[in-house]
Amino acid sequence: MLVDSHCHLIGSYPTQDDLEAVLDRARRAGVNGFIAVGTDLADSGLVLDLARRRPDIRASLGVHPHEASTWDDHTLDALAALVRDPAVCFVGETGLDWHYDLSPRPVQETVFRTQIRLAREVAKPLMIHTRQAPGETLRLLREEGASQVGGIIHCFSEDRAFAQEALDLGFHLSFSGIVTFKKATAIQEVAAWAPEDRILVETDAPFLAPVPFRGKTNEPAFVTHVAAKVAELRGLTVEALGRITTRNLEALCGWAPSS
Ligand SMILES: [Zn+2]
Ligand SMILES: [Zn+2]
Repeated sequence: MLVDSHCHLIGSYPTQDDLEAVLDRARRAGVNGFIAVGTDLADSGLVLDLARRRPDIRASLGVHPHEASTWDDHTLDALAALVRDPAVCFVGETGLDWHYDLSPRPVQETVFRTQIRLAREVAKPLMIHTRQAPGETLRLLREEGASQVGGIIHCFSEDRAFAQEALDLGFHLSFSGIVTFKKATAIQEVAAWAPEDRILVETDAPFLAPVPFRGKTNEPAFVTHVAAKVAELRGLTVEALGRITTRNLEALCGWAPSS
């Protein structure tokens, strides 16, 4: 049994029937739990509706750094109301993305800081997105006291030094399909070395499909390929890795799917 610790289910597949088919395929592949992630206020509302309807889905709600420019005077109150729902396990995804720079960097920073404070206020862990801003991300997590709630560095794609600092701040590392890519040796090294009680696996569907589906639309069933790679790197069976990562998620956010 496996949990997909980070996937986007709203707007990722053409119709509701397609989404049901995606979730059925995941279940048949042994994936029995899903953390569905919201990226702006509207998306977060829809993700919460989905999580309320399905006991195998829990929500992570926030405003992605790409969407930081959409933050206005009403966003904090609206998001705070959403994240207090018991079906919500994480605040985010939030963080910094200096690769695409789709929102101005100072806006990304303010919106990130505000969501760290919100996570502390509601006492829920954070779902962190970071790209090409490793030092800044760690600095803001430290300055805002994020270690009080911890969380997930999702789609881990940094180096071992970053991993160590994130672990010291109490964060878990979630590996995505990138770990299956041949050239991703630095990430594979971290996946082999990270403490057993801090590792998770995810798809980040519909993006970043793992080998052998690279370039195709990703879906939660494919987390089995991510898990197989991480298990291989650590000398474990996929079954053992499934148990470990499911237990780690439960320790972090208090939720595990019923089998
Ligand atoms: Zn992300
Ligand atoms: Zn994501």
